[in-house]
Amino acid sequence: MIETKMLIGSDFVTGSDQPEAVINPKTEETVVMLPDASPGQVDDAVNAAAMAFQTWSRTTPAERSALLLKLADAIDREAGEFATLEALNCGKPRIRVLQDEMPAVSDCFRFFAGAVRNMHGPAAGEYLAGHTSMVRRDPIGVVGSIAPWNYPLMMAAWKLAPALAGGNTIVLKPSELTPLTALKLAKLISEIFPEGVVNVVVGKGATTGNALINHPKVAMVSLTGSIGTGQKVLQAATATLKRTHLELGGKAPIIVFDDADISAVVEGIRTFGFYNAGQDCTAACRIYAGRKVYDNLVADLSSAVSGIKYNLADDDENEIGPLISAAHQARVQGFVERAAQQNHITVATGGKSPGGKGFFFQPTVLAGAEQTDEVVRKEVFGPVVSVTRFDDVDQAVTWANDSDYGLASSVWTSDIAKGMATAARLQYGCTWINTHFMLVSEMPHGGLKWSGYGKDLSMYALEDYTVVRHVMVKL
Ligand code: NAD
Repeated sequence: MIETKMLIGSDFVTGSDQPEAVINPKTEETVVMLPDASPGQVDDAVNAAAMAFQTWSRTTPAERSALLLKLADAIDREAGEFATLEALNCGKPRIRVLQDEMPAVSDCFRFFAGAVRNMHGPAAGEYLAGHTSMVRRDPIGVVGSIAPWNYPLMMAAWKLAPALAGGNTIVLKPSELTPLTALKLAKLISEIFPEGVVNVVVGKGATTGNALINHPKVAMVSLTGSIGTGQKVLQAATATLKRTHLELGGKAPIIVFDDADISAVVEGIRTFGFYNAGQDCTAACRIYAGRKVYDNLVADLSSAVSGIKYNLADDDENEIGPLISAAHQARVQGFVERAAQQNHITVATGGKSPGGKGFFFQPTVLAGAEQTDEVVRKEVFGPVVSVTRFDDVDQAVTWANDSDYGLASSVWTSDIAKGMATAARLQYGCTWINTHFMLVSEMPHGGLKWSGYGKDLSMYALEDYTVVRHVMVKL
């Protein structure tokens, strides 16, 4: 059953604004028409969250932890239905959601359930004679959380879990393209958490999202989305000095040294450059290959990438799905066409949409790209990687860092000391050595530069969703 109602306080309500078509990008069929939340309904949701904050913020870490663990168990119990719904809404292979995303979703809630009972800080003591000082970490207030469409449920989990653990209340707005799993999650949440602690509203960014980020009672806005939307959040935050937590785009460089294990590199990029059809902010998409390995890498990678399976009748066979929308398909096509017009770039494999139903795009390798090319500088967010030849380590590091983005990067070499030394020079929130893409709940995920700031996952996220306070007692 598809849940279509939003959660405001303890009520399940239908949006009172224009209906939006939720489309399956694999079939191009409308799954459901879903009315947007009106600004008045966003106001109701924020008020419900503000009311709930009075009591939720004063619960003990153990009480919050227990409910987060209950939610994780409920998600595990319904993982199959969540995976079916996510696959329907995003077009991705259901098996990938079930095996890769669902365990990460429940683990995120379990991690923060434990983390909130293990917060650390400086020692309390008499730093001024006759006075005892201590540091507290307290909740911030109502958090407006805005999620993207690439991993709808997982991104909701990354936002909800640390915020709830920290004692905040939330109004979550999923992407208008992919609201279905958030609405199902709202149902589970309403059976576990007190009224108003989590509210879910659906609707477009420019209307529903805009009402949320500008609401005076929202103390913090957390966004995973594009740079343009991040800038709008910052503008909105100035009016009432909201805290902001921004996870924006990426353009991950992959430095492949001449001594790298090329078959491991090929397998790695085939997987981590094309997972989720490249609609991933950490996608291994901007490859810099050493002079000696360049030709072999381009040949082997192109051959491996041309074998990526998609749009097969047996969904379990599919490795990737389509792009999220017709508009995004056209955007990716535009990037590839403009790149192909450059004389120095060769389309080594792929290059266009295969035609037929669904917003698919052929897995594409663009060889011979140069540092100034658009496809090297701008985030494509599709199944498209570029390969650029470099001469020495300094050039590779300079080019890798010469980017507006700063989210993820990787270095491939059989010399671990060279890998470590290179990692130390990269200006990215994460650098992997001889792998890419792997995340764990215990370690932070987040960017530098235009990729935003604030960390998801790890104790650092719990810090971001709480505020440090000093309490001093005169003895
Ligand atoms: P987007 O910015 O268009 O939308 C993201 C969310 O913001 C959606 O819910 C949307 O409705 C909302 N939104 C849009 N305009 C708004 C406004 N004016 N006010 C309030 N809310 C608004 O991004 P997208 O296209 O959905 O997602 C893709 C982008 O997200 C890519 O750039 C990608 O790199 C980035 N992303 C980053 C991470 C990360 O962890 N850094 C993870 C996933 C996606």
